[in-house]
Amino acid sequence: KMGNETAKAELGRATWRFLHTMTLRFPDHPTPEQRTTLSTFFHSFALLYPCGECANHFQELLKELPPQTSSRMAASLWLCSAHNRVNKRLGKAEFPCDKLDETYDCGCGPDPSASTN
Ligand code: FAD
Repeated sequence: KMGNETAKAELGRATWRFLHTMTLRFPDHPTPEQRTTLSTFFHSFALLYPCGECANHFQELLKELPPQTSSRMAASLWLCSAHNRVNKRLGKAEFPCDKLDETYDCGCGPDPSASTN
């Protein structure tokens, strides 16, 4: 039962960074296939995340707050809300979801498939 809190937190930070960066690169106008891919990704992720307690909580969270896949904005704000739910449960501060764009940079430059920029 005794885990390593430092390793768990480090994995959490790296994972959240990846997840937020990914949703912020999701298309503004996704195809039905892209929408299914994102939804399937999060459901698979919740089954596979390598911290049993975290994975179980996230599976329950997905039932209550299903992934929003209609657009980049919808997906990004959904993930921000989901992360804030985890923050609340862990006694952490709420993150302002209007600061997503300035917080996460994928380092990959403008998205050639984006309709603007
Ligand atoms: P983190 O929560 O890791 O966040 C990293 C950075 O992201 C913050 O510093 C901030 O800049 C930014 N951020 C914070 N909130 C948001 C937001 N809402 N939207 C966008 N950006 C934000 N740990 C446990 O002990 N028990 C658990 O049950 C648990 N469940 C988890 C479930 C998942 C799916 C994941 C990915 C992680 C889970 N963790 C859990 C780890 C936990 O969420 C934190 O990652 C870890 O405690 C480190 O916290 P932190 O304070 O460094 O910030």
